[in-house]
Amino acid sequence: MKVAVFSTKPYDRHSLETANSKQTHELIFIESALNTQTAPLAAGCSAVCLFVNDVIDAATLTALAALGVKAIALRCTGFNHVDLTAAAALNLRVARVTVYSPYSVAEFAVGLVQTLNRKIHKAYNRVREGNFSLDGLVGVDLHRRTVGVVGTGKIGMIFAKIMHGFGCQLLGYDLYPNPQFEALGAAHYVEMSELLENSDIISLHCPLTPESYHLINSDTISQMQPGVMLINTSRGGLIDTEAVIDGLKAKIIGGLGLDVYEQEADLFFEDLSNEIIQDDVFERLLTFPNVIVTGHQAFLTEDALSDIAEMTLANLSDFEQGCECVNEIKPKELAKA
Ligand code: NAD
Repeated sequence: MKVAVFSTKPYDRHSLETANSKQTHELIFIESALNTQTAPLAAGCSAVCLFVNDVIDAATLTALAALGVKAIALRCTGFNHVDLTAAAALNLRVARVTVYSPYSVAEFAVGLVQTLNRKIHKAYNRVREGNFSLDGLVGVDLHRRTVGVVGTGKIGMIFAKIMHGFGCQLLGYDLYPNPQFEALGAAHYVEMSELLENSDIISLHCPLTPESYHLINSDTISQMQPGVMLINTSRGGLIDTEAVIDGLKAKIIGGLGLDVYEQEADLFFEDLSNEIIQDDVFERLLTFPNVIVTGHQAFLTEDALSDIAEMTLANLSDFEQGCECVNEIKPKELAKA
């Protein structure tokens, strides 16, 4: 199948070419993100391969279908950015990567926790400048601290297991509780309000759905313990960023680790170091000493990239052969997600 791979970065190209070593598919690598202007670059291709910040709305899908594109292979798990109803109406089949190393994201979330807690980012800079002062670097033992895990699916469970290994008490919240969570010991499902009130650290591992949009807002922040650490490696839209900035200023939020940001599509995955960033909310976030923002890199391990490439190519093969694809997403799944 001839496939236009939008938003290609060097690491995507490497992992996809490695997985496609038998040249099963003809991959056309395109650095631009997909939108209505760039859609014509898919001319002559039967499929497109897309990532989290490609625009996959009705207008773009219509443009792709008019070019003869029949299938979309997402090389990510989240599909909140895809207009599935429009895709179905245009007979475009859509598949995603349902599983790839969940350790990649869970381990990164733990990395954010300990970087913020023990101020490793500050220590790194200080020592490079010959400043060996320890003032301002005091952290806490994680042992016996209470960690709230919102979403105890694949990633949330691994995060919970690692934090359990540190000796933390775990509070979980999930629409569909997972028996393995409480089986960890020192782990209990509670209502969201109880998790908010009692957690020293809160980590978000649920998908972005209409129900979870701005789950963290001024009301939920007001229920948190002063000094709480908040970690989001899931989707930016889970957090009302302006409310979080108010929470940081009021010292309710004592540490914030973000790998995702609601308006990240305008920023992430590009080198903007010579540009003037226009997003004042994002820039305000960066002024806090107790905030770490990374550019949606939690998935970025060799293991995860390899898993993503293999499953993406397998999905494309299913589409090419016209057979059932277990990773296909249909509009009704939006309601279940
Ligand atoms: P998963 O489907 O295995 O688990 C998600 C869990 O969230 C499920 O148990 C589900 O029941 C629960 N859930 C759904 N809606 C909820 C709600 N409103 N409140 C509480 N819980 C809810 O998914 P996963 O593989 O663990 O991935 C979790 C999220 O991580 C994904 O949705 C994606 O947004 C994000 N992610 C981020 C990166 C990254 O690089 N930063 C990479 C992969 C995934």
